[in-house]
Amino acid sequence: MVDAFETYDDGNIFAKILRGELPAKRLLDEEHVLAFPDIAPQALVHILVIPKGRYIAQGDFHASASETEITAFWRAVARLAAEHCPDGHRLIANQGRHSGQEVPHFHVQILGGRRLGALVPEA
Ligand code: 5GP
Repeated sequence: MVDAFETYDDGNIFAKILRGELPAKRLLDEEHVLAFPDIAPQALVHILVIPKGRYIAQGDFHASASETEITAFWRAVARLAAEHCPDGHRLIANQGRHSGQEVPHFHVQILGGRRLGALVPEA
């Protein structure tokens, strides 16, 4: 079996959303970046931002993506956070098994909309 944290899995949920095989409300859709609401929001605002390239997690993305992709990605995160969470926000980027990453396509989660709770609850 292929390890989804070592080899990019084209069958992951976000790859399907990128190909239009699964629905998602597109909050931002640019050449290198897509953003949509989380299906199971953990805060009033819970947005997922993903690069369109095939990157498993942040380490992979920052090692292999072009500077254009990296800049476009973080500028999009900043714009979305400012637009949807004017009173502050938290960014989460899980990587690998110890983090509990479920979807093996790099994503940043923007959380906000009201005061957030503890940063890292007990597993
Ligand atoms: P991870 O645990 O991988 O860091 O975060 C994955 C996130 O994706 C979770 O917050 C989960 O609720 C969200 N998610 C999983 N499946 C879907 C889906 O089909 N659509 C959307 N919009 N979000 C999803």
